[in-house]
Amino acid sequence: MKIAVLPGDGIGTEIVAEAIRVLDTLDLSFEMETALVGGAAYEAHGHPLPEATLKLAKESDAVLFGAVGDWKYDKLERSLRPEQAILGLRKNLGLFANFRPAICYEQLVGASSLKPELIAGLDILIIRELTGDIYFGAPRGRRTAVDGHFPGAEEAFDTMRYSRPEVERIAHVAFQAARKRSKRVTSVDKANVLETFQFWKDVVTEVGKEYPDVELDHMYVDNAAMQLVKAPKKFDVVVTGNMFGDILSDEAAMLTGSIGMLPSASLNASNQGLYEPSHGSAPDIAGQGIANPLATILSAAMMLRFSLNQPEAADRIESAVKSVLARGLRTADIWSAGTTKVGTREMGDAVVAAITKKTITG
Ligand code: NAD
Repeated sequence: MKIAVLPGDGIGTEIVAEAIRVLDTLDLSFEMETALVGGAAYEAHGHPLPEATLKLAKESDAVLFGAVGDWKYDKLERSLRPEQAILGLRKNLGLFANFRPAICYEQLVGASSLKPELIAGLDILIIRELTGDIYFGAPRGRRTAVDGHFPGAEEAFDTMRYSRPEVERIAHVAFQAARKRSKRVTSVDKANVLETFQFWKDVVTEVGKEYPDVELDHMYVDNAAMQLVKAPKKFDVVVTGNMFGDILSDEAAMLTGSIGMLPSASLNASNQGLYEPSHGSAPDIAGQGIANPLATILSAAMMLRFSLNQPEAADRIESAVKSVLARGLRTADIWSAGTTKVGTREMGDAVVAAITKKTITG
């Protein structure tokens, strides 16, 4: 088994270092190779996703990714910006299914902006389709006024489209994931207004007939956004398109209090995957040693479960994280009165110690 390690920019290097230490503790036999990506790769090689990095990712079973980006690259032409590396990896590895679990850890109930009774015990999974929708549909562009009075563009347009195979494969992923959970899928659409999403709804319904043991319901995206803050526990697996999934998965992430806690996985048809925290490179706190590494450590656990077939090792990491939280250790983003504030490295130390069952002194 081979893991491509792509720490990236900002806090990416700090949090990935802790995930690597946790993986090393497990004593599993896999090879890890590190490469540059994002702004760091642009500085060294003039491109955010150099050929060598892409080659390493392609020949690995999984990619452990930190984060990319910094405001200083905002003026670069779009194709050279750090975030293009993520789009390039998704495209080249065929990653079409994005898994974003939103789990509220008992010890962090107070960190949410919602009332504790609404989120205690929350465990939902948002599955976002990654390769279609308005983000990739052609034609797209801008049109300039014909009479020449207006030098700038007069209108801009993007095309929303989904093909049957794209909807079918993400629907299968959602139903299969639901089978391992409480057997409920909510498909989110905007079928009342958009033809693309009436089609989405029809195809998901057809696929659902192959899973009679899984309950399927449909919800409009505006209602789903409302229900996520009104009664989030009514959901189990939520499946939706690229744009709605982008927005709803961030909304669901914040239900649990901190984006520093949330892992994610993007998988292709052969379970090769890219695993990364849901947050970005946080340039505002980079280099200070205060970033929360738990989202990345939990992403490594997802990697072990989904791509490397090591579910027991994944369980060990997840239990270690719970026990560290139960001991009251918190990075600044999840700190509250009565708990102990720790930095990135100390949080990593604590997870490593919990796995090896050693106690930390001091
Ligand atoms: P961000 O997620 O980096 O940060 C948002 C806020 O959350 C900041 O205040 C940050 O300090 C805090 N935060 C994020 N992760 C944290 C952690 N692990 N521990 C503690 N606090 C944490 O989003 P942003 O500020 O909008 O974007 C910063 C850069 O990251 C931009 O260049 C953006 O394009 C990029 N970005 C990259 C990815 C990715 O690599 N997948 C995703 C989103 C944004």
